[in-house]
Amino acid sequence: MSVGMSLAWRAKQPKKKRCDRCELYYPESLEQCDHCTGLNSTQLAQLKAQHQETLKDNSTFGKYLLFSAAIIGLLLLLSFL
Ligand SMILES: [Zn+2]
Repeated sequence: MSVGMSLAWRAKQPKKKRCDRCELYYPESLEQCDHCTGLNSTQLAQLKAQHQETLKDNSTFGKYLLFSAAIIGLLLLLSFL
């Protein structure tokens, strides 16, 4: 997903609040969290674990992006020498 698309997607999202139980965000218009309502504690733990994985993936991707940006910057610098 491109940055522009992602921003547009965010702008379209309704206001969200954070669920105390599963720590995910859900629309303010809902009475209850739509992620963990109806889940037992085992399923909730799984949901949280999955969420943590996603966060980890994102930060790894960010590191790769930073790393490749640094490489490209270095190459540009070298080409000027
Ligand atoms: Zn929840």
